[in-house]
Amino acid sequence: MLVNTKEILDKARKEGYAVPAFNITDMQSIMTVVKVCEEENAPCLIEAAEGTIKAYGTTYLAAIAEVAARKAKVPVALHLDHGKTFEIIIQAIRDGFSSVMIDASQESFDENVRLTRQIVDIAHACGVSVEAELGHVGVGSQAPTQEDMEKYLTKPEDAKRFVELTNVDFLAVAVGTAHGLYTFEPKIDLERLKQISETVDVPLVIHGGSGTPGLEQTPPLGVSKVNVFTDLQIPIRKKVKEIIESEPLERLTAVRIWKTANEAAEPVIRDYLRKLGASGKA
Ligand SMILES: [Zn+2]
Repeated sequence: MLVNTKEILDKARKEGYAVPAFNITDMQSIMTVVKVCEEENAPCLIEAAEGTIKAYGTTYLAAIAEVAARKAKVPVALHLDHGKTFEIIIQAIRDGFSSVMIDASQESFDENVRLTRQIVDIAHACGVSVEAELGHVGVGSQAPTQEDMEKYLTKPEDAKRFVELTNVDFLAVAVGTAHGLYTFEPKIDLERLKQISETVDVPLVIHGGSGTPGLEQTPPLGVSKVNVFTDLQIPIRKKVKEIIESEPLERLTAVRIWKTANEAAEPVIRDYLRKLGASGKA
């Protein structure tokens, strides 16, 4: 059975390590992540983002994750990443996701509180935990200006108020990382992170983990979940290209291409589990 993400992350926060949340795309990628987590005896946190939800829907993904969890030797949780609409979030809760993210980070503070509170009330009634984002994590393709940094980075005093007002379980913070590939040198604002973790005691979440140096310094500063997508995609893309270009056409099957390509991400998965301290913590 899928476990509540809160169980995994509260333990991580208490014991000072972080669990990488791997952004999966389908059954094969779920199987690959679970396999490496088992080999590492690590808690397994998989999440699905908007594109994947649009392609397959929450029902299929939850059913596949549920089977994976039933067979796995380690705890497995399934999280909805960047839930933007009420409909998608409620569908994920209905279909048995372990946790959901409500992303209202581009709204005003008050509106973010209102929307998050609404989801927290429903999710908690169903035994599902909730992540919200305060401040705003941008994209790596655009270097932030000084003005952006002041506007979007999470303010410690706001974080405290936000958690009190919403009763949210995990808080995604903007501390200098960004989504996707970086076109600038990212730098995690460790001082800011320290101040936030001293004012709130819920597990903190870093988005845009891929390509960010210094992630291993963040678990002692309250970070318990680090989202990873792009770093998994890089070896998968390369492998797909390599197989297609090197194999005769008659040997190419969808299963062979996709299974082999996903397996190319195994070293990356292992590396994240180890560097964040999740290996051996199942
Ligand atoms: Zn994100």
